[in-house]
Amino acid sequence: MFVLVHAMIDPLGAIQIGAGLLATFPLIDHWWRMRRISRWRKLEPGNEKTDSPIVVVLPIWNEEKIIRLRLDNLAQQQYTGHWSLMIVDSASTDQGLQIIDTWLNENPNAFSNAPSIVRMPQRLGKTAAVNFALDHIDLESIVVLTDADVLISPDSLNRISRWFGSGSDIGAVSGTPYPISDPLTSAERNEETYRRFYIDQRIGESIIDSTPIFEGSLLAFRRDVIGNNRLDMTTNADDSQIAIMIRRSGLKSIFDSELIFHEYIPTDFVENNRRSIRRARGLQNLFWMNRDLWLSQKEDQFSRILRRQAWIHLISPVLVMISLVAMFAHIGLTMFRIQNGISMPLADIVLAFVSSFSIVVFLMGDWIPFGRTLQAYLRGQSILMHVYLDRIIRRNAAIWEPTQSNRDALLESSKKKKGSDL
Ligand code: GDP
Ligand code: MN
Repeated sequence: MFVLVHAMIDPLGAIQIGAGLLATFPLIDHWWRMRRISRWRKLEPGNEKTDSPIVVVLPIWNEEKIIRLRLDNLAQQQYTGHWSLMIVDSASTDQGLQIIDTWLNENPNAFSNAPSIVRMPQRLGKTAAVNFALDHIDLESIVVLTDADVLISPDSLNRISRWFGSGSDIGAVSGTPYPISDPLTSAERNEETYRRFYIDQRIGESIIDSTPIFEGSLLAFRRDVIGNNRLDMTTNADDSQIAIMIRRSGLKSIFDSELIFHEYIPTDFVENNRRSIRRARGLQNLFWMNRDLWLSQKEDQFSRILRRQAWIHLISPVLVMISLVAMFAHIGLTMFRIQNGISMPLADIVLAFVSSFSIVVFLMGDWIPFGRTLQAYLRGQSILMHVYLDRIIRRNAAIWEPTQSNRDALLESSKKKKGSDL
């Protein structure tokens, strides 16, 4: 067998192709199937709203820049059921809390229930803040988690409430990001690529069972299902930890494609990368921590989904690395052979040619359709490879420096809107 393959192509080429296929096939196959399912069926909440009180938790750390904007946004909720806002501050060192105080004094009737502010004496990270909030929330509540730097529509709580009406087997719901990026860099096509790879998977997974990947910027879950359990504070994927915890209890964790939140993508390249690496690391930790589920003999859809995602997040990046190294070595070898008139199988020439061509496609990126996809894919992989590096060189993933360029963009755009309203 080896002799046969060897006669057809150099081992470097075989490694390039083999590792490449093992890395990409599981993702493409999964995405393809999930996309098909998401087009064939749709998840819709019932019409009946829940009777449970809703507590909207807003964890903040040094959000003075945008907190007014966020309070304005939350005050627009049209929900008529019982709900209240709980702000969790972890020893902010800026003017955030004073600004909140002033805002509440200026807008005494903004919320039907007076918002509560709980303070942690020390900053221990967002996940710790979520745990702290759980300590203060009654078991019968529905908890909504949302971030300071996103905007949601006035209908969000109505929609969330409908997911938890009586008889529902939904334990947790995640909102869907609507990323807003720099309009000068063809934001719409970016959005399209993102949707295709990310959201299609989440929706499909939710339809067949549950999705293990949630968005902390807007999510909701049943407080009683968590009970006395708490999230692992040493990692940062608080959102996806909740998704898996709820699913473990037997209820479903789903993505709602119509529960949208708007978020600005950091325009600063370094910030954006650091943020993606941090988030990817949280997911890697999560899949590793829950390996009992994907390794279990009990064959259900959810363990299949977890296994696939574990492969995609933990193993694929290593395979891509191997494949790329083999590719460059193989291209070099082939060029050397051509220059020195050494004969070789046709397959080697074809492979080296196709590989060189894809490098060109990659470099052209923005201008051709497949180039964009290839760039998006390889960016994702390089982020996951970075996570491995990050692990080696220290770095605490649970406490981070918030990105500022997305907050500046949010602020800037709201000023423009206000200006045009006048
Ligand atoms: P990203 O969207 O993943 O980049 O995360 P952000 O930096 O936007 O943080 C998400 C939310 O968690 C924001 O509302 C932050 O203010 C908040 N946050 C981050 N770290 C802490 C913390 O240590 N304590 C509290 N209470 N909130 C935090
Ligand atoms: Mn954010």
